[in-house]
Amino acid sequence: MTAASGLLRDVFGFDAFRPGQEEIVQAVAQGENVLAIMPTGGGKSLCFQLPALMRDGVTVVISPLIALMRDQVRALREAGVEAGALTSGNTDEETDAVWQALSEGRLKLLYIAPERLAAGSAPGMLRRIGVSLIAVDEAHCVSQWGHDFRPDYLRIGELRRALGVPLAAFTATADAETRDEIVTRLFDGQPPRSFLRGFDRPNIHLAFAAKNGPRQQILSFAAARKGQSGIVYCGTRAKTETLAAALADAGHNACAYHGGMEPGDRRTVESRFSREDGLIVVATVAFGMGVDKPDIRWVAHADLPKSIEAYYQEIGRAGRDGAPAETLTLFGPDDIRLRRSQIDEGLAPPERRMADHARLNALLGLAEALGCRRQTLLGYFGEEAAPCGHCDLCDQAPETFDGTQAVRKALSAILRTEEWFGAGHLIDILTGNLTDKVREKGHDRLPTFGVGQEFSRPQWQAIFRQMMGHDLIRPNPDRHGALTMTDAALPILRDQQAITLRSDSVAKPERRPAVRA
Ligand code: ADP
Ligand code: ZN
Repeated sequence: MTAASGLLRDVFGFDAFRPGQEEIVQAVAQGENVLAIMPTGGGKSLCFQLPALMRDGVTVVISPLIALMRDQVRALREAGVEAGALTSGNTDEETDAVWQALSEGRLKLLYIAPERLAAGSAPGMLRRIGVSLIAVDEAHCVSQWGHDFRPDYLRIGELRRALGVPLAAFTATADAETRDEIVTRLFDGQPPRSFLRGFDRPNIHLAFAAKNGPRQQILSFAAARKGQSGIVYCGTRAKTETLAAALADAGHNACAYHGGMEPGDRRTVESRFSREDGLIVVATVAFGMGVDKPDIRWVAHADLPKSIEAYYQEIGRAGRDGAPAETLTLFGPDDIRLRRSQIDEGLAPPERRMADHARLNALLGLAEALGCRRQTLLGYFGEEAAPCGHCDLCDQAPETFDGTQAVRKALSAILRTEEWFGAGHLIDILTGNLTDKVREKGHDRLPTFGVGQEFSRPQWQAIFRQMMGHDLIRPNPDRHGALTMTDAALPILRDQQAITLRSDSVAKPERRPAVRA
């Protein structure tokens, strides 16, 4: 684990970098002059906040939006980072506290509004406090031709010269002309290290599949790519070992990798993987940080990743050489249950847990998407894209049906049994399956009993899974995973909103698992 990824997890509570972040963080932390252009919502602030923690001294952040500055300062302080702002919105106490922290050498990030730079004392003050980095948010404000022009931004170049420290400039919008202007005005015309790469990795084929005999699904995927280097990510250490054995039995060159292994054994796997052709590493997420192999031809997820960021990072290890690469991500209701309970049972404060659920929802939305995966994925990171023609849903549009009535029936079964039961029992009720439990609980007398006979049991399972994917229902960790309804389901329950579901992801009858010798 690198210093940066440790801080990412421990301070910011994120399990993976967003696209582009890691490279930018490294460059900024190493003191390079940097110009980074990332879409709105792409996660720019982390690209200067994290390096600020890795460097000695104070990072000065110049940002034109006072409300945003105050937000960031609040969030940083909640995460235990010493940050403060000097803006016209400050109370005297706030300003005093900032000066106090500065004079004690505690402050790591000082946010200042650009108009502060106009006050003649600013450069002298900043020189005294030991600034080691200047970060400029919304750097396009330096452009006199843009509509966001801030005259005070013109003083930033002067400040950089006066302090003699590296500068990192960030913006979401920069056409070539604005970019040139930023380079001229902020960097004296000396081209900084620029990051303009979009998030798209067009050579990577994206695909998801509902779990249906998952071991066989992975074996088939690997069999079609025999002799190519690949990674299979698993949710547990135990599974890496059993799946690696199954792949080896099927004639592949495969080995397991997880954090519980001896460091020496782990290094052996790492170096074999980079040296040998066609090795499959079956690993937990512990594998990857140090892996820099350009010709990984495929990445499969035997279990659903933790978040959409983790997904992007993990599939992004494939095809770094730009040649075609394949991915397959499996998911099922148990994964969703596991990921939700990991979040609920974690020690994170409530707001962070809510954000974690939202990031998981984004991944589930991608898993259950009805249109182009790439468009959905890039859209989440703030980038617009046309349907890609290179994902499973572009290859073959999914069959869909109006699932509104089915979902309402399922919700009704959940509510009439007072949110005390899991999908299995609820499906018994919906399909009119008179089990002992149904009889014992008197659920055969519910008006919902037998109202869902138009769908088979596997079809109902797929409907419940999609309902979880759309976050209409969640397993209740205090009731052994009994399903409860979320507020998002209310408009559907009240028939104010319709919902389209996929009919093709409905599980087919289980294939017999391959017999292992
Ligand atoms: P912008 O690029 O628009 O300034 P922000 O820095 O405000 O974006 O980040 C947008 C959102 O993304 C924030 O809610 C932030 O917490 C979240 N975010 C940033 N980096 C990550 C990450 N590595 N993993 C998960 N969420 C992240
Ligand atoms: Zn597509």
